[in-house]
Amino acid sequence: MSPLPDILSQLNDDMRRDDDWGAVASYIPELAHIDPAQFGIAVTTADGEVFTAGDAETPFSVQSITKVFTLAIALGRSGDQLWRRVGREPSGKAFNSIVQLEQENGRPRNPFINAGAIVTTDEILTGRLPREALAEILQFIRAAAGDENIHINDVVARSEKSHGHRNFALAHFLASCGNLNNTPNKTLGTYFHHCAIEMSARQLAMSGRFLIETTKLPRLIRPPRIRRLNALMLTCGHYDGSGDFAYRVGLPAKSGVGGGILAIVPGVASVAVWSPGLNRYGNSKKGTEAMASLARDMGWSIF
Ligand code: GLN
Repeated sequence: MSPLPDILSQLNDDMRRDDDWGAVASYIPELAHIDPAQFGIAVTTADGEVFTAGDAETPFSVQSITKVFTLAIALGRSGDQLWRRVGREPSGKAFNSIVQLEQENGRPRNPFINAGAIVTTDEILTGRLPREALAEILQFIRAAAGDENIHINDVVARSEKSHGHRNFALAHFLASCGNLNNTPNKTLGTYFHHCAIEMSARQLAMSGRFLIETTKLPRLIRPPRIRRLNALMLTCGHYDGSGDFAYRVGLPAKSGVGGGILAIVPGVASVAVWSPGLNRYGNSKKGTEAMASLARDMGWSIF
């Protein structure tokens, strides 16, 4: 019998024991009023089992976690050509930092910081209408999760667009360097909308199964690419907190400013945790703590 039900239930109790939840992201007004005192976790295994605890059915804004899916789609579309436009190195800077973009002539350090994800979105958008690109992104995520009930929250997308000065600055800088095929407005409209996709922890864990690398599940992308996506998640998935996350948890993972984290245990499981209060890197505070505890209890660190 799996130890996971007991471990997750204990983890849920432990996470609720103190009130140190961290602060929710306030630069997206629609996310600013979310109660930080929430916690949910879901584990889906390569054997097809699903275990959950806490607020695992509550939909939340997955935000930057969608960058994993858009990278998979952009690589599927353009292959290694994509790397001409974006790098594969950790940035050691905040997710929305602009300083390296000037230093590196408009080629973002990696696809998981905002500048890099704006480029991958632009790549998917090239030759397509925004609604077609968004339909493809949603279709990919729904197929990965085996769940048609995954949607974009339009109110969150518009809320971010009306306050997204930093992302507009990044997009205009990319355009000035010739690294944007579409207008900043069109690319960012698409970017904000895919960031505003909502999933519960259960749905997110299900959607991450395509990254497990196992013969037991239907395959969406081929193993070499799965390994590369995991490598980027490990090195870049938590921005300037990526080293700390690897040290504490030891799993490839991607965070979002909505408080979600998707982590992959290669060959074994996909894990999603959600708690909207963030730490100083803009990653879920309790989510990181829970991942560290789970990886320790299950012996899941890849190191
Ligand atoms: N949509 C958010 C932004 O561009 C995503 C950031 C995040 O989740 N870290 O700022």
